[in-house]
Amino acid sequence: MKGKIKGTIYCPVCNKDKIVVYEGASGLSSYKCSNCRRLRLVDYDTMSAELGEPEKGLFSNK
Ligand SMILES: [Zn+2]
Repeated sequence: MKGKIKGTIYCPVCNKDKIVVYEGASGLSSYKCSNCRRLRLVDYDTMSAELGEPEKGLFSNK
């Protein structure tokens, strides 16, 4: 195994989609739930997730 698992974070909306976090991971990341399709903001330092919408325009051309 390459890394130790630090823990898992579940989707705060549907509580189903799971993110496995390995030791050494830190910072924030947005993550789209594969179950409910909502965007989450994942904090690897506190091992928590909340609903997070990216800045408008980030994923579009306009
Ligand atoms: Zn979800």
